[in-house]
Amino acid sequence: MINRRDFLKSASLLSLGALAACNSKEATPAAPVENKNKGLGLQIYTLGPEMFAGDLSANMKRIREMGIKNLELAGYNAESHKIGEVELADFKKAADDNDLKIVSSHVTPGVLMAGMFQRPGAPAQKPKTLKEMVNDVKEFWKPVAEDHAKLGVEYLVQPMMPPMTVVNVETAKDFANLLNVSGEVVKATSGIQFGYHNHNMEFAKVTADSKAAVLGDLFSGMGMRDAQIIEDLYMDNTDPANVIFELDCYWTVMGQQDPVAWLTKRADRIHMLHIKDFMVLGASGAMNFKNIFDKFYANGRKYFFIEIEDTNSGKQFGRLEESAKFLNMSDFVK
Ligand code: MG
Repeated sequence: MINRRDFLKSASLLSLGALAACNSKEATPAAPVENKNKGLGLQIYTLGPEMFAGDLSANMKRIREMGIKNLELAGYNAESHKIGEVELADFKKAADDNDLKIVSSHVTPGVLMAGMFQRPGAPAQKPKTLKEMVNDVKEFWKPVAEDHAKLGVEYLVQPMMPPMTVVNVETAKDFANLLNVSGEVVKATSGIQFGYHNHNMEFAKVTADSKAAVLGDLFSGMGMRDAQIIEDLYMDNTDPANVIFELDCYWTVMGQQDPVAWLTKRADRIHMLHIKDFMVLGASGAMNFKNIFDKFYANGRKYFFIEIEDTNSGKQFGRLEESAKFLNMSDFVK
């Protein structure tokens, strides 16, 4: 027999199903155990320089030993064709040797950024509009897709939009068109599925004639008539075959939105998640990971990636170990 205090203590850690089981005579509540045999993923941006410090293969081994199976890359360089300072083939070999699967990669089209801004010291030029960059973006993705086909990734994901390029409904649609064209080229070149990853700015609202001195100002348009959320405009103005969405749950909350509501209304478009908290996963108590994972799995999806900021802290391996343990101990993570 367990006493009432112990029962309540255990019950708060258990799902409703387990709670029902506790009501039967024979059942005793099981303490959560660490299960390292799940489909945990890591966005390697998390580790910053720690990813490449010392022996890469030993670092991969350490990652795998946390129960992580899937990687999403960051830091691919389209000019050097390297990831960090490492040749792509060497990076893939280290991952293969340690039973880590490279599922996805984040790549920002440099051409998009360069076209929008005046580079220091470069000859003065008139910045291009989003409409004027369609061909530049197409040409950018072709060799990138070829490189990533060699890595065997399933997804290529654009992680952000250039700040201050989307300020009204028309520019949001122009950016959606760039995403759509990118997805078309990536698929035609390599068969890889293209996607887009959000921050908080995509949950700002725009109207036909809205303007913003800084992008954050668009959040003040919450009550504006006919205002539309930028992320909705991206989803509604891209072909689902060309562009899937990777929802960053933390940035969604920072955009004053509920990740579960998005997973519900956009079940067909959101294929992957970034699982992120203020720092170590689960420590803030602010992210309702159980509801997020439940809905994500109910939608038939499987790939998610741990992400932790403060990448230059030198503390990232430790934080990742704590975060992986939190997910390994949580029975809502499969
Ligand atoms: Mg993210």
